[in-house]
Amino acid sequence: MDLKSNEPFWLIKNGLINSYPSLKTDEECEVLIIGGGITGSLLAHQMVKDGYKTILIDRREICNGSTSATTSMLQYEIDVPLYELIGQIGKEGAVASYKACAKSIEDLGNICSEINSNAGFTEKTSLYFASKKKDVEWLKKEFDARVEANFKVKWLEAADIEEMFDMKNTFGGILSEEGASVDAFCLAHDILDFNTGKGLQVFDKTEMKSVKYFKDHNIVTTTAGQKIKAQKLIYCIGYESQNLIKEDFVELKSTFAVVSEIDTDHIENLSKTLFWNTDEPYIYMRTTDDGRLLIGGGDEDFRNPEKRDKMLDKKEQEILKTLKKIKPDYDFYTDFTWAGTFGETRDGLPYIGEHKDFANSYFVLGFGGNGITFSVTGMEMASAFMKNKKHLLTEFFRFGR
Ligand SMILES: Cc1cc2nc3c(=O)[nH]c(=O)nc-3n(C[C@H](O)[C@H](O)[C@H](O)COP(=O)(O)OP(=O)(O)OC[C@H]3O[C@@H](n4cnc5c(N)ncnc54)[C@H](O)[C@@H]3O)c2cc1C
Repeated sequence: MDLKSNEPFWLIKNGLINSYPSLKTDEECEVLIIGGGITGSLLAHQMVKDGYKTILIDRREICNGSTSATTSMLQYEIDVPLYELIGQIGKEGAVASYKACAKSIEDLGNICSEINSNAGFTEKTSLYFASKKKDVEWLKKEFDARVEANFKVKWLEAADIEEMFDMKNTFGGILSEEGASVDAFCLAHDILDFNTGKGLQVFDKTEMKSVKYFKDHNIVTTTAGQKIKAQKLIYCIGYESQNLIKEDFVELKSTFAVVSEIDTDHIENLSKTLFWNTDEPYIYMRTTDDGRLLIGGGDEDFRNPEKRDKMLDKKEQEILKTLKKIKPDYDFYTDFTWAGTFGETRDGLPYIGEHKDFANSYFVLGFGGNGITFSVTGMEMASAFMKNKKHLLTEFFRFGR
């Protein structure tokens, strides 16, 4: 196939898996989830499991936000290295954040089995490699921090990387046992489908326009004028939360991804590992379960979608130039190229918790390269919030930290 598209690969690959009705009547529920990407779907799964009458709404079709664009690498490794995060927030919070992401990978695997998902969840190792000689020093420091925190890691020399993955021009790296990949678009659909069978109500093309906050409940009014009375709101609106929350808490970035034609034979030795490097911005790479090579990177400050999309060709060339450096003998044939927006925070951590301006509400905003694993952690944190229980990570993921 020689077709190029600005549409994310997952949307084209999966098509319209499920379409839901828009909201046409007033409703009442215990929990209203706003946002139907991977985060909202996971939170809906948790709330239904906890026994709450739950409604989920999305202003677009389900999963047409950043969940359709993601490369879905599931890593315990946060964008900010562990040794640096320890320096920023202390050992307890840093190690707990890394451990939570590791647990999330396992939890997500269990959810995929529980709901019998077709999303291709596959456990993989993860290689974080030095792209410059000068990065080796701090990457070894990072390796030591991970060993001390009991992560299952191994240091690979450049020659080992070349032998295992046929990758050149690297300077060594950390190979981690814990990692996985999944099709997040398909998974979110599967989760919602499973839970509608258990009483979850899903409405797409239903936009939250305004909210009135009361002492023990809130009333959401949609753009079409329907009202939903809910005891609690869970905001899972991704990067669009920037329009809602006054303070500056996240920096929006554009990131770019390229996927090859199906080429199973030549990428066999890459298929069990996730890759990312020490460049700033870093590139990230994995195979898909239908035998393609998927590479992302080239991050830029987000200005507007038009400017972002105009950079597609240039960014594709940039990403493929990096690939050529590490795999000079590999011929990459592009099938799809697309761009997506994501949020970056100073400490690489998400914002999960309450906000003083929003009563009876909880935010699960899993930003950065670990957006998905953070959202999984958000499930147990939101569950604790509903039961008025404390969670160890509340302090580290809170607004105003
Ligand atoms: C190219 C790319 C690569 C990435 N790679 C990775 C990766 O490898 N690993 C990883 O973990 N993460 C990765 N991320 C990040 C990850 O994709 C995101 O963290 C994740 O998709 C966020 O999901 P979400 O459900 O929170 O947000 P979204 O998918 O954006 O969903 C939010 C939803 O809220 C809805 N919404 C917003 N406002 C309203 C409203 N007022 N009323 C109703 N609905 C509303 C939107 O329509 C949208 O569907 C990547 C992102 C991109 C773009």
